[in-house]
Amino acid sequence: MTGDHPVALSRIDGHSTWVNSKVLVLAKISRDTPDPDGGLIRRNAAHEPTGMLIDNAQELIRSVIPKATQADQEHRIRIALQQFSRWGLTSVHDAGVGLETISIYKDLLERGELPVRVYAMASGEAAMTHYLANGPELDLGNGMLAVRSFKLFLDGALGSRGAEMTDAYTDAPQEHGLELMKDADLERVLRAARQKGFQVNTHAIGDRAVRRALDAFEEGGVTPNERFRIEHASIVTNDDLPRFVHMGVIASIQPVFVGEYSRWAEDRVGPSRVHWVLRTRDFPTIFSIIIDSRCNPNAPNIKS
Ligand SMILES: [Zn+2]
Repeated sequence: MTGDHPVALSRIDGHSTWVNSKVLVLAKISRDTPDPDGGLIRRNAAHEPTGMLIDNAQELIRSVIPKATQADQEHRIRIALQQFSRWGLTSVHDAGVGLETISIYKDLLERGELPVRVYAMASGEAAMTHYLANGPELDLGNGMLAVRSFKLFLDGALGSRGAEMTDAYTDAPQEHGLELMKDADLERVLRAARQKGFQVNTHAIGDRAVRRALDAFEEGGVTPNERFRIEHASIVTNDDLPRFVHMGVIASIQPVFVGEYSRWAEDRVGPSRVHWVLRTRDFPTIFSIIIDSRCNPNAPNIKS
């Protein structure tokens, strides 16, 4: 994309952004800019950035994107909540919010304008630091709002090839996806969160990210009554499948992914791995359908 006006188009799952050359200039992203940890600046054959920024590479443009005001954010959340209400949903999980969004929920609650129960997962450094210092907020407003879980991001998304795979992508043989959180950081946050009584929900889409989450849960001795979740659990090997059951880990799969995945999942992982994708039928007892407004590739982008 070229042009005089800066343009940034965020993928609906939040895992990549397509920007034009004006944004690349404003953000000082050039052929010499290194890929950040857990991020990828897609480049052409001449090594020039194409404008596709994957996962943590999106942080490079954060300072040049105008920030939504608190009023804008509240307006968007209000629209989303009203839509949930119309659909007849009485309780939703918001899978990954910072302190600003949580404070908007609290304001709405205080004003009696929260129409559905919200189970908010705190995400990001600031929110997690705050909640680790202060502990969970259980059942605010007689059960209308609770903040007693964290959402951690272990990898990216399958569509943008950010999902962390053990073996390379079939349609990109040099790529294995992105590790957004290292094992040592995962173990550290897991330990601290459990000490304070937080549920831990880890976004993991690629088979390697899913395995790393299960390994960390196993090493930590996580028990079924903690109800820890692997969000998406999109690509799970035969070896890892029974581990969900043994450890009582919830596979938080979103059936709404099926539509989009059916168009290109086999391109990404090839015929020998495609049966590992979205194994809804194979998870025998532990199955939870979660509306994940952040990483859902199909739903209307109602959160931001
Ligand atoms: Zn996610």
